[in-house]
Amino acid sequence: LVSREAREENTVVRVGHVAIGGSQLAVIAGPCAVESREQLLAAAHMVQQAGAAILRGGAFKPRTSPYSFQGLGEKGLKLLAEAARQTGLATVTEVVDEHSLELAVEYVDMLQVGARNMQNFRLLQMVGRSGKPVLLKRGLSATVEEWLMAAEYIMSEGNGQIVLCERGIRTFEHSTRNTLDLSAVPLVKSLSHLPVIVDPSHATGDRRLVGPMARAAVAAGADGLLIEVHPEPTQALCDGPQSLTPAQFVSLMEELRAVAAAV
Ligand code: PEP
Ligand code: MN
Repeated sequence: LVSREAREENTVVRVGHVAIGGSQLAVIAGPCAVESREQLLAAAHMVQQAGAAILRGGAFKPRTSPYSFQGLGEKGLKLLAEAARQTGLATVTEVVDEHSLELAVEYVDMLQVGARNMQNFRLLQMVGRSGKPVLLKRGLSATVEEWLMAAEYIMSEGNGQIVLCERGIRTFEHSTRNTLDLSAVPLVKSLSHLPVIVDPSHATGDRRLVGPMARAAVAAGADGLLIEVHPEPTQALCDGPQSLTPAQFVSLMEELRAVAAAV
């Protein structure tokens, strides 16, 4: 179902009033995690003014350590809904199981399946039955074929509103958090009709590399970007080193408009 043979024309995924996979570059931006009302609303107004279309923020965080901040849960979802009301932005948040999914569908416009759950087949089937558009991240060590088969799990439940997100894969190279596989963008777009976006934040783990990789992703034909931004990255409870400052995000958005106009 996800292959080009099954459908010739590109799929456009609708998230609230936002289209992903159409002629406009769609930028998803916001903090790694929803931390507080003050933090989220500041981030939301900032990314909206800079021209982002969708606000992100994790309420259920799949952290490597059980002692790290795990997210605000339903309280975080309520804050995302409040930020959406204030700014008009659409919203996306990660779901990790049945409980978080049941809550998230009440509050956000799009569900994210994270890299660590890309082959959680029961979760894929549940988001496939949710009726919400899905942001499906590539697994930490997933091949393109495994990634597309994960999308097939969602689509075979009747949900074709899927955006694929390249977020870097594990390699021997440890000087960046992951290795961004930019070639996956044109490759997957040739194999599938689904939109493909790039997350340079988790791919690199380093805010200095986010801008160059974001520009390269747009030049490679990505339909959108997912970028972590925090009002005060040094205070972030999660992924501070890769989060852009508001000023960096504003200038990146300007650069991206220039690259998008050229491709
Ligand atoms: C995230 O987007 O917050 C996240 C945890 O990303 P990934 O699943 O790609 O690691
Ligand atoms: Mn993060």
